[in-house]
Amino acid sequence: ISTFTSPVRKLVNFAEMFANGFAGLGRFVELMRTEPKLRDAPDAKALGHVRGSIDVEDVSFSYEENQEVLEHVTLHVRPGETVAVVGPSGGGKSTLCRLIPRFYDVTSGRICIDGQDVRSVTQESLHHAIGVVQQDVFLFADTIANNIRYGRPDATMEEIREAARQAEIYDDIMAMPDGFDTYVGERGTLLSGGQKQRVSIARIFLKNPPILILDEATSALDSVTESKIQHALDHLAEGRTTLIIAHRLSTIRSASRILVVADGRICEQGTHEELMRLGGLYATLRSTQDLSSAE
Ligand code: ATP
Repeated sequence: ISTFTSPVRKLVNFAEMFANGFAGLGRFVELMRTEPKLRDAPDAKALGHVRGSIDVEDVSFSYEENQEVLEHVTLHVRPGETVAVVGPSGGGKSTLCRLIPRFYDVTSGRICIDGQDVRSVTQESLHHAIGVVQQDVFLFADTIANNIRYGRPDATMEEIREAARQAEIYDDIMAMPDGFDTYVGERGTLLSGGQKQRVSIARIFLKNPPILILDEATSALDSVTESKIQHALDHLAEGRTTLIIAHRLSTIRSASRILVVADGRICEQGTHEELMRLGGLYATLRSTQDLSSAE
């Protein structure tokens, strides 16, 4: 989003970071000093056991007054379903994905998880239920173990190791100078983009949420890293409701449904074959490779 200068982006990312679970750590307290924009309703209840249905009901949204970014969007995602979100740049894909964990409140309409309006439940319980993997991963200047532990502060070392294995980052960590005690970030070992992304995947394996929101990387990664990430994400998505902003044709094809979002609306939906046959925007985007040619 080229029009946004980095301080604004950082604020957005702070809000989004909460979704990956930082409760209980000193850093979290530090972050919380910056006044949170959204508050829990006085009678907010914790989401109970979440099966994972998502309902977006006639939702419109604008970041700034009179500039609608989403208009009358309606969407039902069944528990366990994988839905790929595609469409031209600036069409509203990321915005739709940000509203589900309530990084912002809708302007009108409502969003429900298991039939409960996200504004009526505690943000803490909402963030427990939804894992978010973004392209820009935030790592603290701390050990790699602690960076993974942000997924669930009470996790044991064995659980952290297991999450690292599932996220296919274990061997990389063991090859670092001090293994899980290696300091990363500003003054420590710098991780590659692909490694950072796998750290964020490990956090989510630890957290084990029923709902996932993934923003597939567009940046070029080497093919070994890419296939590791792909494999880890496929494994992470198993049995969870998954909404993925997808760029790779293989991801798009394996989704049970594709949503085409453009100009703030869901303008087409169906499988790859259905949408190609329809010969509409999806087919045009594919043929002009606007959906990214990375396979
Ligand atoms: P891309 O594929 O480029 O990431 P997208 O489909 O995800 O695009 P969004 O990022 O949701 O689209 O953006 C939709 C519109 O909302 C754009 O016009 C964008 O400039 C605007 N927008 C996005 N984030 C913000 C924000 N934090 N504040 C104000 N406007 C925003």
